[in-house]
Amino acid sequence: MPDIITKSEAKARGLKRYFTGKPCKRGHMCERSVSTSNCLECAGERLHQYNEANRDQIRERKRQYYEANRDKRLEYGRRYYRANRDKRREYDRRYREANRDKCLERTIGARATEEGVSSTRAKS
Ligand SMILES: [Zn+2]
Repeated sequence: MPDIITKSEAKARGLKRYFTGKPCKRGHMCERSVSTSNCLECAGERLHQYNEANRDQIRERKRQYYEANRDKRLEYGRRYYRANRDKRREYDRRYREANRDKCLERTIGARATEEGVSSTRAKS
């Protein structure tokens, strides 16, 4: 249980919460917010209830926000793509050049193994 501290004392110390040691009107023995004087548990419950009651509205608002910003997002993506197209092309080219030998080796190696397998099979 937290130490008892009055609202004015908490305020003076720059704290956001205080604790009276008395239950709130709904029976919670818990800290209260200095700014609203509300018990934190009540505040939490209220928020939860609000979210539950407005679930559809909240979802709808999110969807609307998403829709409203779709063009902006697409435009941003296009701009990003254009800005990085040359960079990406250059990167791909360098990567291929740097790994050309490795690629060749791998191809030759794979072919050799395949031949080896088929020749073993032919023998048996
Ligand atoms: Zn409460």
